[in-house]
Amino acid sequence: RILVIGSLNTDLITRTSRVPAAGETLISKSFDTGSGGKGANQAVACARLSTQKCDGPQNVCVYMVGAVGDDTFGHELAEGLQNNYIDVTGVTAKESEKTGVAVIIVNEQTGQNRILMSPNANFSLKPEDFTTLSDFGKDFTPTRLPCLIVLQLEIPLDTTLQILKVASKHGIDVLLNPAPAQVLPKEAYAAVNHLIVNESEAAIITNTADKNPDWSKWGEHFDRIVALGVRNVVITLGAEGVIYLETREKKLWRFDAEKVNVVDTTAAGDTFVGAYAVAVTTVVKGGGDFAAAVRWANTAAAKTVERSGAQGAIPWLDEVPAYWEE
Ligand code: ADP
Repeated sequence: RILVIGSLNTDLITRTSRVPAAGETLISKSFDTGSGGKGANQAVACARLSTQKCDGPQNVCVYMVGAVGDDTFGHELAEGLQNNYIDVTGVTAKESEKTGVAVIIVNEQTGQNRILMSPNANFSLKPEDFTTLSDFGKDFTPTRLPCLIVLQLEIPLDTTLQILKVASKHGIDVLLNPAPAQVLPKEAYAAVNHLIVNESEAAIITNTADKNPDWSKWGEHFDRIVALGVRNVVITLGAEGVIYLETREKKLWRFDAEKVNVVDTTAAGDTFVGAYAVAVTTVVKGGGDFAAAVRWANTAAAKTVERSGAQGAIPWLDEVPAYWEE
């Protein structure tokens, strides 16, 4: 049972041939809404990658905790998660809040995004909402713990730190994807078992002066990563694949990205996180072969890249070769 605590957003995506100037009104090329938020995307990835598409809801093993507004967007987001067989009893629809929204302007000429994010209800999650294990969901007790808690940084930082405290107290494994990146207090990492970052996030959390270092030259940066004190660290390198560091043994694995027809890289990172979470909580758990989990996540994330969209592009279990067969 995987518990994802984090953000849910509605994406408002508009495409244009150029970005309007100040005071100008421009007709857009197209407009779409989509379901997003790193928390929700990662929950969908966990659910789909532990479920055959045809299995149906009897197999629920992913729980989402978060907040939306008591509005159309919020209800649609919760319903969307349910359609992916996710338990949403921990998703609160708050009357006094609006659902989180990301306004995304895509320049059709260059493919570049400009994103304005309004966290809204996501920022209403307070540390005092997570004082005991029962606050994580009625299904969780000291004798029925989640196997893994998956966290990102799209809810308030002090809330995330409080969740880490409670998780640590009960000895629950935590996977942290510190995105959007910010420097965390040193003690926060003590409660984290798995850290997954992309290259720019790795630079920020390790205070690397060079904001765009070449992480594939791992030797130069190894010490800074080890100093964080997290045992399993994964740095995703986009089209360059991924590296995995086992920091206690000081071992490193590097896997190339799958060669695929790249359509849209949105949600590739979130798929990677979800796939890794599923792998470490199932087959890998006893044996601790985390490199196998990384390899499988690399394969799953590549599937997402082949399709456009965010949550819709995330593959189901039957679309990714089983990692024990690789
Ligand atoms: P984020 O989306 O969080 O910035 P990355 O861009 O590093 O994360 O991508 C995450 C993972 O998705 C990569 O480690 C890789 O497994 C997969 N991926 C991303 N881009 C590609 C690509 N062009 N081809 C194949 N796999 C990719």
